[in-house]
Amino acid sequence: MTKQILILGAGFGGLELSHRLSTEVADEVQVTLIDKNEAFRFGFSKFDLMFGRASMSDVNLYYRDLVKPSVEFRQETVTSIDAASKRVTTNAGTYNPDILVVALGADYDFDSTPGFSEGGHEFYSFDGAAALKDVLADFSSGSIVIGILGQPYKCPPAPCEAAMLLHEYLGERGIRSDVDVSLISQWPVPVPPSPDGSKAIVARFEELGINYVTNTEITSLDPDRKVALTSDGEEIPYGLFLGIPVHRVPDVVEASGMAEGGWIPVDEKNLSTRFPGVYAVGDVTSAPAPKAGVFAESEARAVAEHLIAEIRGEGTPVPFQGAGICYVEFGDNLVGKVNANFLPGQPPTAPWDEASEDYVAEKAQFGAERKERWFSA
Ligand SMILES: Cc1cc2nc3c(=O)[nH]c(=O)nc-3n(C[C@H](O)[C@H](O)[C@H](O)COP(=O)(O)OP(=O)(O)OC[C@H]3O[C@@H](n4cnc5c(N)ncnc54)[C@H](O)[C@@H]3O)c2cc1C
Repeated sequence: MTKQILILGAGFGGLELSHRLSTEVADEVQVTLIDKNEAFRFGFSKFDLMFGRASMSDVNLYYRDLVKPSVEFRQETVTSIDAASKRVTTNAGTYNPDILVVALGADYDFDSTPGFSEGGHEFYSFDGAAALKDVLADFSSGSIVIGILGQPYKCPPAPCEAAMLLHEYLGERGIRSDVDVSLISQWPVPVPPSPDGSKAIVARFEELGINYVTNTEITSLDPDRKVALTSDGEEIPYGLFLGIPVHRVPDVVEASGMAEGGWIPVDEKNLSTRFPGVYAVGDVTSAPAPKAGVFAESEARAVAEHLIAEIRGEGTPVPFQGAGICYVEFGDNLVGKVNANFLPGQPPTAPWDEASEDYVAEKAQFGAERKERWFSA
């Protein structure tokens, strides 16, 4: 009998899972893929938006172009999830699938940092990144502070990339010497699992004159005085504050009661939840990997392997492999590469490949391959 599989969220995790199921067991499944948006966008497109290199429509990969046997995309907003009964309600109807997969990503809690909504800007949402374009264009002198406001956060190298790309952007406008750029982090190094990557990023910060402040937690902003306040009572003045917001699960996941300690707990081998027939992948989980698209994708592959073996009634599914490549923008047409591995049960490793022009093309290829794989039959 055809299995009804409902995937909530068509991001890295949902798209990869749909692709694998469609490729391997199209005759045995009917996949419904739901997202509230009309298009997928890569996280790294946020840099293109904020620095005015692309518009929203340039970076949209429209779901209406998704052509996959046994996969139907529906643009709907999920309004409730009852994991125990696998019953899902959206703005357009109700679903009772055989298998439910929650891949709804992470949301942001702007208000948990007092003063941030009033006095700060952000590039972690697509709308925030697009709005920043004009704010940056109007800024011509003073200090820009990039502050990481909570843990965990998506794509750990992204704030460092923003600082290096900001240097390039200000240089192109001829105002780099009029602007101080600082990055304030709670961590002691930029990418803790990658000592060599961290060293290379810190060396690049020194070369570019980016002020890097470690082990510092920003707890609030005072928009009137334009200062960020830290947990140890320091004040950091800013002209423009770009914050990495505190992350949390989407409201609908919070209301479902599936999350514990902030995120949905999962079995690290096959991403099953404590509810029979219900899985969760990507940023919405507390899986032992960073919140990044490549890990959401890798987790989705583990769920796919598991379901395919179950549907076929044969084979030993390959468990979550924890591997992913993160490309790190260094500015000036240079990209470095972290080859991360968060294989469950082992200490993480993340060898580093020095930034080079070659990886610019490789990163573009990374995006093009996924577009082809996720959207074409
Ligand atoms: C600046 C920046 C740069 C980044 N660069 C990289 C990078 O180079 N490489 C990398 O691997 N990762 C990168 N990331 C991280 C990456 O974007 C995320 O980690 C990744 O998208 C997570 O995948 P996911 O499938 O878990 O969730 P998402 O891709 O966020 O997908 C979740 C989907 O759920 C949908 N959704 C949410 N709530 C509802 C609802 N109620 N109803 C219906 N739909 C809903 C959303 O619309 C969304 O499409 C970057 C992130 C940022 C902010």
